[in-house]
Amino acid sequence: MSRSTVTQDPAIDMSTSPVKPGTNLSKAWHALSIVQVSDCLASSSKGLTREVAAARLTSDGPNALTDGSKVSALHLVITQFKSVIIWILIAASVVSATLGEWVDAAAILAIVVLNAGIGFYQEYSAERSIAALKTMTAPHAKVRRDGAVRTIVASEIVVGDVLILDAGDLVAADARLFEANALTCGESALTGESEVSAKQCSALVRANTPLGDRSNMVFMGTSVTAGTGQAMVVATAMDTEIGRIAGLITDAGRDAGTPLQRKLDRLGYLLIWATLAIVALLFGLVLWRGTKVLDLFLTSVSLAVAAMPEGLPAVVTVALAVGVMRMSRHRALVRRLPAVETLGSTTVICTDKTGTLTVGEMTVRALFVAGQTFEVAGQGYGPAGKISIDSKPPSRQQATALLVLASIHLGCNDAHLVEDKGVWTTVGDPTEGALLSAGGKAGADRVLLDKECPKERAFPFDSDRKRSSVVRRMPGGGLRVLSNGAPEALLLRCDRILSYAGVRRLTEQDRTQVLDWIATLSAQALRVLGSAYRDLDDTTISVTTADAAERDMVFVGLSGMYDPPRPEAKEAIVTCRRAGIRVVMITGDHPRTAAAIAHELGIVSDGSPITGTRLDAMSDEDLHRRAATAGVYARVTAAHKLRIVRALKSDRAVVAMTGDGVNDAPAIKGADVGIAMGRTGTEVAKQAADIIITDDDFATIVHAVKEGRGVFDNIRKTLQYLLAGNTGELLVMTVAIGVGLPAPLLPIHLLWINLVTDGLPALCLAADPIDPDVMGRPPRPAGERITNRRFVETMLLTGVLTGGVAVAVFVYVLKSGTLEAARTYAFSVLVFAELLRSFGARSASRSILKVPFLGNLPLVGVVALGVLAQVFIQEIPMLAQVMKVAVVPLRDLLVLLAIGSIPLIALEVAKLVRSPAPC
Ligand code: ADP
Ligand code: MG
Repeated sequence: MSRSTVTQDPAIDMSTSPVKPGTNLSKAWHALSIVQVSDCLASSSKGLTREVAAARLTSDGPNALTDGSKVSALHLVITQFKSVIIWILIAASVVSATLGEWVDAAAILAIVVLNAGIGFYQEYSAERSIAALKTMTAPHAKVRRDGAVRTIVASEIVVGDVLILDAGDLVAADARLFEANALTCGESALTGESEVSAKQCSALVRANTPLGDRSNMVFMGTSVTAGTGQAMVVATAMDTEIGRIAGLITDAGRDAGTPLQRKLDRLGYLLIWATLAIVALLFGLVLWRGTKVLDLFLTSVSLAVAAMPEGLPAVVTVALAVGVMRMSRHRALVRRLPAVETLGSTTVICTDKTGTLTVGEMTVRALFVAGQTFEVAGQGYGPAGKISIDSKPPSRQQATALLVLASIHLGCNDAHLVEDKGVWTTVGDPTEGALLSAGGKAGADRVLLDKECPKERAFPFDSDRKRSSVVRRMPGGGLRVLSNGAPEALLLRCDRILSYAGVRRLTEQDRTQVLDWIATLSAQALRVLGSAYRDLDDTTISVTTADAAERDMVFVGLSGMYDPPRPEAKEAIVTCRRAGIRVVMITGDHPRTAAAIAHELGIVSDGSPITGTRLDAMSDEDLHRRAATAGVYARVTAAHKLRIVRALKSDRAVVAMTGDGVNDAPAIKGADVGIAMGRTGTEVAKQAADIIITDDDFATIVHAVKEGRGVFDNIRKTLQYLLAGNTGELLVMTVAIGVGLPAPLLPIHLLWINLVTDGLPALCLAADPIDPDVMGRPPRPAGERITNRRFVETMLLTGVLTGGVAVAVFVYVLKSGTLEAARTYAFSVLVFAELLRSFGARSASRSILKVPFLGNLPLVGVVALGVLAQVFIQEIPMLAQVMKVAVVPLRDLLVLLAIGSIPLIALEVAKLVRSPAPC
């Protein structure tokens, strides 16, 4: 392997990747030193400039595994012509044409095109909004560009980029590590190995080291399970290790639809066959009586077309897409469509505390050191605020002890505070930001600290260990471990304590005193952190693991920080209670802090919080019993979350579970609805989730549930409207022909009805605004059929009445007038009845007067247009001729409109008489 050709030619074009995919060079990066690697790739540890990155992106293409699952517009157009109905209609048009019925043929064709157009528009806009969402939830990665860390879409990564890796990140390309702090990766996606692999950065000797042992490399598609690191990208897209086998892994592609879509598909088929059977029966009956076969054929075809619920699957797609769009406007991004349906039936929401139920802005209010507790003044992360004890400033002795605590706050800290127009915010973890601010108030200086005691190593925070540590080199040459973390556990790792007299052995009495203070501060809803340090002689003790470093420590003190509950979370919890949804808080924080915040927010729980330790001691049956009423879990790890989800699910609850960390992924996946936090969430959590909440706010989750319920309502009401219409149409024809009358509707009428009263109003109903009281009723029982008893009753009532009024009008006019007039009147009354009924269909329980009429303007427009069109074809002789209707006096039209409102009125009366049962 030679790199001379690449690096020694000064004229080389640096803007494109020097290493072309497929060369041997791309195989043994692990055997090269990092200097060789960066030379080869014309990059450095500072990363690429934006111009170079942009040029490489153009020449190499995006960093994405190719998948052919894109839906093109053309494809959708073709899909429209895959439907049997369209071909039946086209056949009908051809038959008409051969008979010389040119007007008929043209009208049918026009209707075919219009129908296909509506279908295409529905699906195209639905697909588009779903595709837009996909890009919004695409994985991101942190890279160094122009020397600064930036978060970019993973597909924009190029060879030579420097990846910044943190626990919970997905590795976005194959890369060679040049920095690794306690870094481990989960590589089962690539190697099948379930154990995590530890990473380091020195070159490996053997060029043919197997993939699983290339400890200085990270690979696309794997995830960072712990630690931090930096690596230089050596391969992207199909050149990566996973890309090589991607030919074998075809993306699941377009899914087979959501459960509801599948159910409705099945229902649709059933109805299609039922319709065909009825039509065939009619056909036989009339044939037996003896009529012109061709006329009969056209009538049968048209009836089948009108009565078939071909719009069913589209209704679900549209309703889902509308729901998904509304949710994204309310900061909830849906990654998997079925989640929208499940959300609506959620009975338990398990939520994080910090940042979700609370604001996530922390301020240290109290410090405990050397047996005394100090008050800290000030708001937010700003530097202003004095430390006092009994309203007096600390003495010199006290100040010295506080300074030791402050040096740990600052020394073991990755956050930064930034000021903008007097407002201080934190970049990084809010907990650490609060420590920075408090440490500053106690007089510590970070710049000085970094200069005098350089950082040697870091063991970053993880939510199972619940602490973080940094190892620094002291001016005297020795090493010092500085740790902040959950105090009870940290205390167990200490054998000495700082007092005013210096460091001494930690006695039982000290331990009790510290634990008492933890309890006292926690009960004031403060999040309490402990701080400790340890001095090491670096030659005798190795501190390569967190476990080895964080032991035999000197306990220094406590910091109590306040993170106020979100006001909107409190409201959302009230909403949940009204909606029959239980809210369960799951936190890594102290049980007392958790209980205090839960109390402030009004989360109901019987008994005190269940801690992780108690969970471990519980059997599955015990947990199952307790989970039914427990509202707060504290000091839990990610593994506990999964157990809680399982316990709740075994109780037939529909569980939504939130999470942010890499370890939360199993619980997120295990829940019925997995929710990841958009701001604090790791890539791993996001990719495991069904829904991403971009503002981490609990209220957003509750809003998403509301949307989910709304989507289900809209699907149900649209279905109801469509099926009742189809019932009516079938009925008119069956009854009239059954009793020996001529067909009340001609083919062209049936097709017109199909177009004007089915397609467009259904589309508007599927996008109806949500009933504001949708959260005032209990969750829909899981597994409840959309077509429950009440649904069928209403459908039959309105369907039979719609058909009924049409038949009645037909018979009445036929007695005194011509067949053409009778047909015209029956046709009109049917169209009016259906269009008007659509207003009643907007709510299954609320009266039409209580649903804001103008709330669904498109529906008003579509109905108004439909009525107008119907009037026009009967008033303008030329149109009347095409549509084969008689010209009707305007006065009669008014009467017909009045008769047409009968099914709507009946529907409204039924709502009044019936118990106000849900939906
Ligand atoms: P939560 O459920 O409140 O989000 P976390 O998992 O974030 O809980 O934190 C659990 C505990 O870990 C906290 O109570 C605190 O004691 C400790 N902790 C949290 N963040 C840090 C940090 N950045 N450094 C050290 N310790 C931390
Ligand atoms: Mg947290």
